Amino acid sequence: MFPVLHRSLPVAALALLAVGLAQAHGPGHGPHVHGQAQAQLVLESRTLTVTLQAPGASVVGFERRARDPAESRQVEQVAAHFEAPSAWLTPSAAAGCRLQDRTVDAGAFASGSHATPGHADLAASYRFVCARPARLTELRLDLFQRFPALERVRVEYIVDDMQGEQVLSPRTPVARLRP
Ligand SMILES: [Zn+2]
Repeated sequence: MFPVLHRSLPVAALALLAVGLAQAHGPGHGPHVHGQAQAQLVLESRTLTVTLQAPGASVVGFERRARDPAESRQVEQVAAHFEAPSAWLTPSAAAGCRLQDRTVDAGAFASGSHATPGHADLAASYRFVCARPARLTELRLDLFQRFPALERVRVEYIVDDMQGEQVLSPRTPVARLRP
């Protein structure tokens, strides 16, 4: 019983964050603001989970399905960038975090006949296991150079029992997670 509970805790914590966001901003992953991505970080025991939602306008360049091969290629390249976080998502080296799993959803931008009404996000999530979680003091996010239309990333975090929020920008791309 206990090990099952233990493994489910990060998911529970993420769900709590999602509930908080929904209460503050309506249903979904929070406000859809062009130029601003939302990230949630949860460290629970040795498991570090980072989720990200970015407006299509800020990372893909449009918020509809790709209309020609060039746009499809663009979507594939952006998805590939989010599938390889070692280039841009960097937990404290001292924590020894290794990426175990990732999911990237750019389905709203794939070519197809079904139109997507309104705005669209790219969503991604990453799960790391950290050898020395107590030494996780920061998370660096280097997305701004690759995606100049992205101006801000709002990071909400739960690290052990501490909860906080920081806004990252090209000048401050590092979230400080512990005092
Ligand atoms: Zn939009």
